[in-house]
Amino acid sequence: MAQIIDGKAISAKVKAQVREEADKLKARGIEIGLAVVIVGNNPASRVYVNNKKKACEEVGFTSYEYALPEETTEQELLDLVNKLNADDKVNGILVQLPLPKQINETAVINAILPEKDVDAFHPENVGHIMIGDFNFLPCTPAGVMELIAETGVDVCGKNCVVIGRSNIVGKPMAMLLLHKNGTVTICHSRTKNLAEICSNADILVAAVGKAKFVTPDMVKEGAVVIDVGMNRNENGKLCGDVDYDACFEKAGYITPVPGGVGPMTIAMLMKNTLTAAKVKNGLM
Ligand code: NAP
Repeated sequence: MAQIIDGKAISAKVKAQVREEADKLKARGIEIGLAVVIVGNNPASRVYVNNKKKACEEVGFTSYEYALPEETTEQELLDLVNKLNADDKVNGILVQLPLPKQINETAVINAILPEKDVDAFHPENVGHIMIGDFNFLPCTPAGVMELIAETGVDVCGKNCVVIGRSNIVGKPMAMLLLHKNGTVTICHSRTKNLAEICSNADILVAAVGKAKFVTPDMVKEGAVVIDVGMNRNENGKLCGDVDYDACFEKAGYITPVPGGVGPMTIAMLMKNTLTAAKVKNGLM
């Protein structure tokens, strides 16, 4: 029977550490600011942005929200990003994705100054992650690494399987596991024998975006199962990619949804914003 990896409790610990450091910086006259930009009326994006603002309050950062209408042009958004790049009060800039279709996401990501890119999506930061010499890690994979660390399972030499190869989750996830000396396999929609590959994983990370995608036949007895997915089930309830109830007996450790990876993503965003402030002030 699996032990539940409590992302809520672990994220609270990370945020408390961030708060402690932020308070010390404040005592030296250094205020930390995060700009959060939302374009349009996507309800899921609104929830994420609200959660990020709440987390800023918890750790003692100032959050600056910019809510732009759905019809915002790419140039208008780029103008705002440039303004925030130049704003000394802003240590981190987060543009909530997805953006409306008239806006090229890549152009916007590339416009954020790498030192304020607290999502770590800018190609310069992606390159640093690849090399293993970084200030920021992308929030979701970094959060997953913290969750794995909390289990006490050492990644070194383990068979790690990541399902999903997106730029924001799957690929950096695989890279972070590799940096910890895992033997990493990345699976995707063209992968053959997916269930068999997964069933050999000591550490299985699902980032697919499909409810109940991971079934017990894909889980090795005692494996660490991390569920990044955020989906709605047939009753409209939030659920992950893993068939949690069915896999619970077989896994060694498992993350719930909600209460697993999601809170960690936000905690790591706070950590990255703190890092940005420390780097800017020559403290790192
Ligand atoms: P994405 O860009 O849609 O990528 C999904 C990946 O899953 C793709 O690489 C795709 O393969 C793969 N895939 C799809 N169907 C598959 C199949 N039948 N077999 C094997 N692989 C398959 O999604 P994402 O942005 O990485 O996000 C993944 C999930 O994580 C979503 O549910 C998202 O909401 C969630 N998420 C959660 C957090 C959090 O904080 N908890 C953060 C980010 C994302 P191809 O590349 O071949 O198409």
